[in-house]
Amino acid sequence: MNLTIALRTFKARQKEMGEGHCSKQALDSWPVVFRRFLDLKAIDHGGFKESVDCGQCKMAQTGQYKESLKCCTYFPFLPCFSVGGVLAGGGPGASVVNDMIRNRQFVLPIGVVPSWQYRTKHKSMGGADFGQREDLLCPFFQKSTRNCTIWKSRNSACTTFYCSSDRGQAGLDAWAELYDDLYELEMHLVQEYLLFRGFSWEEICEQLEYLKLPANQMPIEYLPQEKMDSLWQHWQNQESRFFIEAFHWVSELSDADFLP
Ligand code: SF4
Ligand code: SF4
Repeated sequence: MNLTIALRTFKARQKEMGEGHCSKQALDSWPVVFRRFLDLKAIDHGGFKESVDCGQCKMAQTGQYKESLKCCTYFPFLPCFSVGGVLAGGGPGASVVNDMIRNRQFVLPIGVVPSWQYRTKHKSMGGADFGQREDLLCPFFQKSTRNCTIWKSRNSACTTFYCSSDRGQAGLDAWAELYDDLYELEMHLVQEYLLFRGFSWEEICEQLEYLKLPANQMPIEYLPQEKMDSLWQHWQNQESRFFIEAFHWVSELSDADFLP
């Protein structure tokens, strides 16, 4: 599926969405790079209700998740343009990203990827661990405020994740469908930007392999300097600029730029 088809599928899905499929409050909170692809006028015809309030997390109130963790025992892949949005916005989220860049914590041109150490821990997680295990908490979650520090630049998974508090199974299914389409769009945008910056398909494919946990791989937290040098090539030591420019590049795309 190419970027054009991904965008069309995403837009067609919005038109299929009828009453109650998605809360308007939730759609209004989408990151700016994704909101550009929403046809809010089409969605508004559905007559939405506001049905979930994450500030008053029901899963925490009922003890299913810890209040200090909520549903953020998850490390999202943060695509390059979202990383740029975080860095451009400053604040605690940007400090986390800057530390990751400094420490070589799986910060690749495609974006910030969970380390193999994190993935190894996550693989061992049981269903009851979600919302309970502090060692799996997202690095962008701020415990003091119990909130996400990168809300305006969160990825497709975090943008479309709502627990069963949002209309039970029907809500879970509707959000999962929207996630599939938004993820597809997100990944195409990442690849288009890297091609634009001169990376080859082979180099992009090598990076995409980091989204999986390789078999028999050491559960490392940091990548060796030589590996980082080869992944970043001529963008070494300019990671922040690379990401911020990705954010602006995606933000300035219009339908006409990639719809034939
Ligand atoms: S999506 Fe559900 S679990 Fe997550 S913060 Fe909102 S109410 Fe809580
Ligand atoms: S990025 Fe934000 S919403 Fe997503 S898991 Fe982390 S803290 Fe939660």
